[in-house]
Amino acid sequence: MSRSALVELAKRRGYFFQSAGAYGGVSGFYTYGPQGATLKQNVENAWRERFQIREGHREIDAPTVMPEAVFEASGHLDTFDDMLVECPECGESHRADHLIEDETDIEEAESFPIEEVEELIREHDLRCPNCDAELAGEPVEDFNLMFETNIGPGDSSPGYLRPETAQGIFVEFPQLAEYARNQLPFGITQIGKAYRNEISPRKSIVRVREFTQAELEHFIDPNEGGPELDRVADVELTLYPVEEQQKEDGEYLTRTVEEAVEEGIVHEWIAYYRTLPLLLGLLGRRIGGRRRLRIERFGGSSGGEAV
Ligand SMILES: [Zn+2]
Repeated sequence: MSRSALVELAKRRGYFFQSAGAYGGVSGFYTYGPQGATLKQNVENAWRERFQIREGHREIDAPTVMPEAVFEASGHLDTFDDMLVECPECGESHRADHLIEDETDIEEAESFPIEEVEELIREHDLRCPNCDAELAGEPVEDFNLMFETNIGPGDSSPGYLRPETAQGIFVEFPQLAEYARNQLPFGITQIGKAYRNEISPRKSIVRVREFTQAELEHFIDPNEGGPELDRVADVELTLYPVEEQQKEDGEYLTRTVEEAVEEGIVHEWIAYYRTLPLLLGLLGRRIGGRRRLRIERFGGSSGGEAV
């Protein structure tokens, strides 16, 4: 079944549809219908069951709007950017890295520096998907993905809609550490809305501007303690480490948990979480193993594992 047929079916059956359609709608925003909202809740509850009840972590519920200082400290203000190129003819904005990935064999173009992206657009004579105008020579610019707002009247106190739920966990660390009696390790989860002002949302509900995230931040002492790896030592993981991603013929690696940790491919806690059935079931084998290149460009979390 094609993606558009699937999206149509989802709409007819009440799973999800573009929001505010009666007023023209706007891309990147979806409403979950009666079936979809229930299904989404079931997934969230399965996640809660796994990480709160079985792993013993605690959930918080932080605001979605936070002051500028938070995102200055996290690095999002400076570097949470996508590469934008504007068509000189029709004015439509495109994600430069996506154009490259769509029209060439190159993968992970978002990790390239801007000059290289401009060069690739020239080299491959990439054109506007909307009107076919030449994009070679057009400047590629960083576009910050955060939605900005004003807290209170006037503009003296800028705020931002959180681009990921992790911020609410990190900024409350002092308070949360106290609840954990200042003992490591401890884990804090949050399920809630996050917002990214995507340049060109696409792929239906895969890339949207408002979405629900479920995140766990697990605070550890790297020199002390660790997960019970014995129980999962033989579980096989499919991994795509940074070194492989940077090679031209990079490959997915298959390693048991024990091997992966011993070879230093993956941190022991990340290996442990990867073996949890819920994650394996959700992620499948191929897409589960990619360590994000981009997250390393800014100071979010040091783990930077996308699950
Ligand atoms: Zn155009």
